[in-house]
Formats: sequence, structure tokens, C-alpha cells
Amino acid sequence: MNKTFYLETFGCQMNVVDSERIVDLLDGIGYRQVEQAQQAQLLLLNTCAVRDKAVRKAYGHLGRFKPLKDADPSLIIGLGGCVAQQEGEQLLKEFPYLDLVFGTHNVHRLPELVDAIEVRRGKAAAIDFLDRETRLQLFPNRIGSEAVSRFVTVMQGCDNFCSFCVVPIVRGREISRPSAEVLAEVRDLAAQGVREITLIGQNVNSYGVGVSGETDFAGLLRQVAAVDGIARIRFTTSHPKDLSEELIACFGDIDKLCKHLHLPVQSGNDAILGEMNRGYDRQHYLGLVAKLKQACPEIRLTTDIIVGFPGETGADFSDTMTLLEEVRYAEIYSFLFSPRRGTRAAELADDTPAAVKQERFDRMLVLQNEISKQSWARDVGQLREVLVEGESRQGRGQLFGRTTWNRIVNFSGPPELVGKLVPVRVTKSYRNSQLGELV
Ligand code: SAM
Ligand code: SF4
Repeated sequence: MNKTFYLETFGCQMNVVDSERIVDLLDGIGYRQVEQAQQAQLLLLNTCAVRDKAVRKAYGHLGRFKPLKDADPSLIIGLGGCVAQQEGEQLLKEFPYLDLVFGTHNVHRLPELVDAIEVRRGKAAAIDFLDRETRLQLFPNRIGSEAVSRFVTVMQGCDNFCSFCVVPIVRGREISRPSAEVLAEVRDLAAQGVREITLIGQNVNSYGVGVSGETDFAGLLRQVAAVDGIARIRFTTSHPKDLSEELIACFGDIDKLCKHLHLPVQSGNDAILGEMNRGYDRQHYLGLVAKLKQACPEIRLTTDIIVGFPGETGADFSDTMTLLEEVRYAEIYSFLFSPRRGTRAAELADDTPAAVKQERFDRMLVLQNEISKQSWARDVGQLREVLVEGESRQGRGQLFGRTTWNRIVNFSGPPELVGKLVPVRVTKSYRNSQLGELV
């Protein structure tokens, strides 16, 4: 009988890639992925710890597995990713129906751990951080792809220790993958028909730092752009303090590089940026935005904002509002501050009532919604190049793809266009997507 597994993924692009690796590894030991937890013998959650809400969501979903385990005690239930890394073995005590905990450096051990549980019917945990040499051997090199667009990991971990952020604690120190390996994976994906590559890491801008003889991120980008078959390149995430002049120049002269940059600012106020340990101030950030717009006038930016950082006053928050008006981001991803155990910000005094934070948050969304609406409305009536990613879920000859600004466009067309760059006239702009006509 075929063995089956069910996997849910939470969080950022790093977890998405780890989950792709989990699928490959489990395939190697005879497990086939299924869409329903009820159909699986192995149930896995790949979790995110960046905010309390994400952690609670993971525990909520874990709780849904309990009745299944009660009905069939032979089920294996596992929890991996950032929550597993932070909470470790104690999760096995807290959730007695949980069999397996695997941390962010131990995805590769999944087949062995599952195997051991199948044989012994005991519990297993693997949450050790690995040394640099071992990690370098373990960068996920994914096999097979029918997708038009894929992530390729260029670095892992983070050394920045922004005071609010748990990532350095749960993902470990920063390491860069050798550029030869990155290029080999990109060539491999291109040969399988992948047209768009997104280079990923927690802070891709510091790629290669401290590695003798390695190229920097701008150099890596130029090498990836030279790979035949790849039509578009994106990258994420960028830290403003490491955004170099060379990287900014890439937006002006690499045709394949999409004209979109996600550049998390977090706050528009210098005192708060200082408390956050971000390593730049408002003026420096605005200088980067000006240089980017000069190198590539069509560029559109997106960002992350944290509202309600400890000690943030109404006046501090106003600086974030004026920054949004000044930069005019196409989109923002906004979060209420969530204290994370082990981070510096979790220790700071925080006397702003939750209701005040929420009111600021809502006010910010009203402002940004209007800016985003105006930004996307600029496309209406214009011809835009769209990379077709697939057929829409609604079917009926509907295709979807993205513009260079990462905006989803739905339009009618034949399925043969999947994987091609096609001209589409945008006819309507909605909150999260656009409608167009193939030209
Ligand atoms: N490495 C990226 C960077 O430097 O921006 C992203 C890291 S994190 C996974 C994504 C976003 O989550 C951050 O940019 C930040 O806005 C938000 N975030 C991180 N920690 C947070 C916290 N404790 N509370 C609220 N938001 C948080
Ligand atoms: Fe977290 Fe800062 Fe590292 Fe991003 S750069 S992962 S926000 S510590």
C-alpha cells in the first residue's frame, strides 16, 4: 500500500522552500502527498514563529489533528520549522499526540526520523543547530519542476538581530550558498522550462559578505541574468542597510530584473529605527528610494511596517504616515508589534494601550489603501507584459500571470500561452489583482 502524507506550510519564502524539500525527501521514502489530512498516515506542519498570531495558528491546526490520532493511533504527527526550533522537545510533552519535532536545520533528517518512528513507534526530536560546513552541504537542491516561477535559495539565517525579530534565534547564523551551486540550480530549472527565478534569503543583500573569493549579490544577479531561458528575475528579502550602489544600478541595466523591490522600512521615525537596531535612518532610506527611482523610473516599491513598537508615540507614528505619503509604496505589509521571547524588544517597556495601536494601524491602512489604489490604477488602459503562470481556478479559458510589478492579471487566452511573456491591456484594477485583454 502507498504511504501518504499531508503537509501545511506557514510563514515566509524560506519555509516554502523547506516544504518543497520535505515533499522531495518523503517521496524518496515512498510517501505520496495528499490534499486532505483525513487521507494521510503522516501529518506535518511547517511553522512560523515571527509573530504570536502565527504560533497560535500553528497550535490551532495541530489541535485539529488530535481527533484523527484518537481515531487512528498509528498516525504519525510532526511539527517542524521555526516554532519547533524555538520550543524544542517540550512540545512533545505539551501535545502528547505529537510524535515528531524537527527544527530548521534538520529538515534533511526527516526520512530517518519518520523511519525510526515507524519501526519503534516512539517519539523523535531533532533541533540541533548544525555547523557551517555541514549546512553548506545541505542547501536544498530541488529536483523536477513544472512551474513557470521558482524560488532559489542563495543564503540562509540572519546576523542582523533587529531587536523585534526572532529569525536569527530560530534560523541561526547567516551563510551564503556558493554561487556556482546557485547557478547550477538556475541552469537546471531553466532547462526544465522555468522562466522566472526569485533568489531568496532573509537578507540577500549581504550575500557573499565574509566569504573569500565569492561574488557579492549584484555580481550573482548579473550571472543569473546571463542564464539562457530565464526571462525574469526577482529577489527577496532586502535589508536597506546593505542595499549597495551596484545593486541599485542593476535595476537600470538588467532587462530581466523585474521593476519591483520589496524594501522593508519598518518605521519612518529615527528613534524607533534606532531602537529596532535597523542600522539606517529615515534620511538614508529616502536616499535609497531616490537612487532607485533615478536608476529605474518605472520601479514600484513595497515594504513591511511594524505599528506599536514599544515606546512608539503618536508623533513617532506620524513619521511613518508621512513616509508612506512620501514614498508612495505600491503595497505595504503591516503588522502590530508582537513581543518574541529571546528578543531585545520583548524586554522594553510598552505602555501604549492595544486600542491605541489598533487605531493607528487602521488609520495607516486607510491611507495606504488609497495610495495602492492610485498606484495600480495607473495600469488601466496600458499595455503590460505578463508572464503567464497558469490557468485560473475559475477555468473557462481564463489565464493568470504577473506584470513586472508582481501584480496578478487575469485574462482570456489559450493554455499554450502558459510560460510565455505576452502583451496584455489592463482593463480593470481590483484591490488584489487586475483584469486584462490579450493583445
Ligand atoms: N528578513 C526580512 C527583513 O529584514 O525585513 C523579513 C523578516 S520577517 C519574516 C518579515 C516581517 O515580519 C518583518 O519585515 C517585520 O515587519 C515583521 N516582523 C518581524 N518580527 C516581528 C514582530 N516581533 N512583531 C511584528 N512584526 C514582526
Ligand atoms: Fe529579522 Fe532583521 Fe534578520 Fe530581517 S534582517 S530576518 S527583520 S533580524
